[in-house]
Amino acid sequence: MTPRETRSTCCYCGVGCGVIVTSEGDAITGVRGDPDHPANRGRLCTKGATLHRTAGAQVTRQTRLLAPMHRAERGAPPQPVTWDRALDLAAMRLGEVIERHGPDAVGFYVSGQLLTEDYYVFNKLAKGLIGTNNIDTNSRLCMSSAVAGYKKTLGADAPPACYDDLDHAHCVFIAGANPAYAHPVLFRRLEDARRANPSMKIVVADPRRTDSVALADLHLPLLPGTDVMLFHGMLHVMLWEGWTRPEWIAAHTTGFDALKARVRACTPERVAQVCGIAPDALLTAARWFATSPATLSLYCQGLNQSSSGTAKNAALINLHLAAAQIGRPGAGPFSLTGQPNAMGGREVGGLANLLSAHRDLADPAHRAEVAAFWGVSDVPAAPGLTAVELFQAAADGQVRALWIACTNPAQSMPDQATVRRALQRAEFVVLQEAFATPATASFADLLLPATTWGEKDGTVTNSERRISRVRAAVPAPGEARHDWRIVVDLAHRLEVRLGRPGLFPYATPEAIWNEHRESTRGRDLDITGLSYALLEQRGPQQWPMPEGAAQGAARLYGDGVFPTPDGRARFVDAEYRPPHEARSAHRPFALITGRLRDQWHGMTRTGTLGRLFGHESAPVLQLNPRDLAVRGFADGDLVRVSSARGSLVVPVRGADEVACGQAFMAMHWGSEYLGGCDAQGTPSAGVNTLTTSARCPDSKQPELKHAAVRIERCALPWRVCGVAWLPDDDVLAVQRALRAPMADVDYAACVPFSSGAGGDERSGVLFHAAAGLPQEAGWLERIERLLRLDAADCLRYADPRLGQRRTVRLRRDGAQVRLEGFLIAGDTRAQRWMTELLRASLPVQADGRRLLQATETPPVAVPERGRAVCTCLNVARSEIAAHLGKHAGTPAERLASLQTTLGCGTQCGSCLPELKRLVHDIAPADVEPAPQPAAPVATSATAPMQTWS
Ligand code: SF4
Repeated sequence: MTPRETRSTCCYCGVGCGVIVTSEGDAITGVRGDPDHPANRGRLCTKGATLHRTAGAQVTRQTRLLAPMHRAERGAPPQPVTWDRALDLAAMRLGEVIERHGPDAVGFYVSGQLLTEDYYVFNKLAKGLIGTNNIDTNSRLCMSSAVAGYKKTLGADAPPACYDDLDHAHCVFIAGANPAYAHPVLFRRLEDARRANPSMKIVVADPRRTDSVALADLHLPLLPGTDVMLFHGMLHVMLWEGWTRPEWIAAHTTGFDALKARVRACTPERVAQVCGIAPDALLTAARWFATSPATLSLYCQGLNQSSSGTAKNAALINLHLAAAQIGRPGAGPFSLTGQPNAMGGREVGGLANLLSAHRDLADPAHRAEVAAFWGVSDVPAAPGLTAVELFQAAADGQVRALWIACTNPAQSMPDQATVRRALQRAEFVVLQEAFATPATASFADLLLPATTWGEKDGTVTNSERRISRVRAAVPAPGEARHDWRIVVDLAHRLEVRLGRPGLFPYATPEAIWNEHRESTRGRDLDITGLSYALLEQRGPQQWPMPEGAAQGAARLYGDGVFPTPDGRARFVDAEYRPPHEARSAHRPFALITGRLRDQWHGMTRTGTLGRLFGHESAPVLQLNPRDLAVRGFADGDLVRVSSARGSLVVPVRGADEVACGQAFMAMHWGSEYLGGCDAQGTPSAGVNTLTTSARCPDSKQPELKHAAVRIERCALPWRVCGVAWLPDDDVLAVQRALRAPMADVDYAACVPFSSGAGGDERSGVLFHAAAGLPQEAGWLERIERLLRLDAADCLRYADPRLGQRRTVRLRRDGAQVRLEGFLIAGDTRAQRWMTELLRASLPVQADGRRLLQATETPPVAVPERGRAVCTCLNVARSEIAAHLGKHAGTPAERLASLQTTLGCGTQCGSCLPELKRLVHDIAPADVEPAPQPAAPVATSATAPMQTWS
């Protein structure tokens, strides 16, 4: 069969990298970066480079929703139904709710991963046909503060900069973002720009010493949530030093005097006190920002996911206006979108407070324009419920029907107790989704199978306003339908029921897009000069691109004219407010959430690949080593983390990146991977058990980045560790089946496990659990059965009286015998070396029965690999450390030596920041010390910076 190639776009982050998908028949067989796509020029990160692996037949069989399913009653297993039956049922149940309780008793919760065409019809369905503005999206959790910040200051929701600005910037100010993990290909472009311009200054403002800091000249490790004070302090310094641009401010802005009066009190001393930033570091940051020929700021969830998210965005944009760092190549505020099409969702007005083409729901003229455009009598005036409000209203019984598409609120929303109460209380819950595996699926009455990446056709818009085509490489699997098609099919039924026909005449995504295009005519995002045909011919294009324009605008506001009534940008006099929850003696730690390098959101897709767990193999809470020592914790100890909303149990690990008094946990760990229950026996809902739904008053974005927590040792003496290789066709099904027993104990985690990249890569499952008392034998037998440890030829030892159990499965491989799987319960001190023994596939024929002793010391020499730093070539930290211990030289020479010898950092480049950090941290042990890099700038009032630039 001849392989086909299809150009499309990566479905993960907002960088929006172009991909070339290889397929044979109905199967996607490969993916590589599109060298012609302007966002990535051929590069991909670990996530993008493994897209084809997560879209393969094995994953599809085990994880996809392949037919409509209906649950006759809550808790019962769902049964397949026909599409007609499913859609008739959906229209009937929605119609009944609307008739009995009004249209606002229905709520839609959609996703920044939908395509623009999907988004458009969802928005029209809710606001145009049903007559409710209760449609919000997971983009509310991601960028609504950026939207509000842009509109308040610049007058329109339009990021004014573009990726090429990295090549023109002389100072890059990264605030509340970790692009090394969250936007890796953009970070590669920043590394390139820095190489081309070594005098470029890079500043990173982040409470954690993330991998992005590895590239920084200056790290500002501010206390969580104090960004507004930091930015006001920088403005104070700029004013004091005469670094603002009064003539530009006078000509192009309003509101500076009020802001000046406010920042007068934000002295370096006050900033040091509030933010924990040394005054000289503040001075340096302000100088570089204001006096550089061109300053570009990159920002993301650290500013957005905050109870003062809009104020943080506005305070940063204030700096750009005060220093006239906007509208020129290399200068401007540049929000990075988390999701692949958060921008497209904004464009079609797919949020509870927006309307098509950046119109405002609160504006009667805008409502009238959209109603006329759609041919409906009106668009309801009552503001819709935003994400947190929507689930709160469902939990309170006001919203009766929830339609959820392409997102997993039972994992990603804050305050999971309320969200799960909402999902249980709603009369009718529909999940329109490609995968059957998200936690939300177990709450749905109706599951509608949707197509996903590799199967869909339409457009997305990335962070730099660039519209790219998404193309189908293979047909839809099973009975899955495109999201836009599902909406149109439902709408046709509702049109009949509600007596409003003719609103959804679309037969193709292009027909939808053409209507969306027309809605933008004369608006700030005008794309009337663009068409599917032009995107085919000339590739991705930026907006605005009005009719007659030769190309889209690379950057905005070069003429100093802003889309406000008077054409002037507005300074926002934002008051500094601390995070919603103050730390206290009762909850003394600030919990910060963030991303892992190789995972995406709730891991519905990336979590299907054991290899992507190589860098971080299981849930963990990171604490500063000093906090660990003070509390007498050791790496791997279990702790109970409690917030005002709930608690969970998780292992703790020391991490220099985390400051004292703070704790970090990745946002990805939902109940699909992290089990256990709280002190009352309520099953864990993952990390968002702890987070707060306190939100920004302007953007309504919740403060997912900060919660006050208590961390206590959790004495759970009975431990279980099971690891086993499994047939590739079974791994994901087994991991999913193991979720049920995870809820029976105080702590449990279960993830796919892999031997790492390579031709003989093997896959399996890793399971951990802990409880105060041993579980009954039947519970362990259930785990063993799932891990294929129930065969007659398994070696066994059991002492039920003491809760001890050891089971080992061996495999004959020619003359050798190798470990295939094991489960140890009770005393699990052997788990580390047994896991490494299994992973390394070392021969054990001389040691079979000794494995059952499960002593702390292995019976054979087992090299400890540690985590994989380079996922592409499966190079472990231990190998890197061993190499660095023997090689001196400059940092650049030692990095080059690692790349040449081990190959790490030569493929996608996602591991480069960590490699640089390791080069800095690990000194040659048996040669002369390598020359040290220039002393970094001390930045913190409490701790020196430890980075290498
Ligand atoms: Fe996809 Fe990675 Fe590019 Fe983001 S940076 S779009 S995740 S390949």
